[in-house]
Amino acid sequence: MITHTGGCHCGRVRFEVQAPAELEVDDCNCSLCSKAGYLHLIVPAARFRLLRGESSLSTYQFNTGTARHLFCSVCGIKSFYVPRSHPDGFSVNARCLDAGTVTGMRVTACNGRDWEQQFPAGRGDFQAT
Ligand SMILES: [Zn+2]
Repeated sequence: MITHTGGCHCGRVRFEVQAPAELEVDDCNCSLCSKAGYLHLIVPAARFRLLRGESSLSTYQFNTGTARHLFCSVCGIKSFYVPRSHPDGFSVNARCLDAGTVTGMRVTACNGRDWEQQFPAGRGDFQAT
């Protein structure tokens, strides 16, 4: 487990996240993620820290309103958010991590378009680490 840093495009929003150097990420096909090309690195809340930019974040919610889609109000980039699948954790956009610490990514397709089939229990679960 190492510390990656990342943020939005304009630099107002910055965070750090603890994760392996080789990342396991989800490529979701739901109506929002497929348009944004978002690659999900899902982590428990304890492994994510917002360094700055809280006042620059805007929230977009739709459908059940469980997910809180947080994007920078200046540059529009969603670099992390609170996902419906893991409402007590964070999903970091692997595409928004700084270069230099990620040695590789294994991308798994996530069928968010058919939510009830993908998450029969209503949400995902963190693997014990
Ligand atoms: Zn920004």
